[in-house]
Amino acid sequence: MNDGDSKPTSKLDVGRVQMATHFGRRHLDEWIAAAERAWADKDRDERIAAQKCRWCFYARGRGGRIVGHGFTTRACASCEAPQTYSSTAANPLCMPCAQRLGLCVECCADIDLTDRRKLELVSKPKRKRRQ
Ligand SMILES: [Zn+2]
Ligand SMILES: [Zn+2]
Repeated sequence: MNDGDSKPTSKLDVGRVQMATHFGRRHLDEWIAAAERAWADKDRDERIAAQKCRWCFYARGRGGRIVGHGFTTRACASCEAPQTYSSTAANPLCMPCAQRLGLCVECCADIDLTDRRKLELVSKPKRKRRQ
């Protein structure tokens, strides 16, 4: 683990306050905009194509994740097939399993964040989608 990124605290001056204000405002605006998109599920098609739940797609997906460099391999939590990712932010599920189970590829939640009683998709009638 690399936790050595924290910079030494510089002395407080108005420039620092202005900078913090600028970024705080910008991040807040982005966060609110993202929350609005998430609430309305505005990019649903894109989200389903990415096989992600609303939380991961809207909240975590946009820069919220700490992504490292290099390649990483991780076994899928369902089929145990080794998956290779181009960063250290490896997903717990492979795409075919996530699609088969109707789960978020990134966090294993139900893709629509609805309550699940079973792991396998049973109750939902499968909508036929032409690829
Ligand atoms: Zn799998
Ligand atoms: Zn998710």
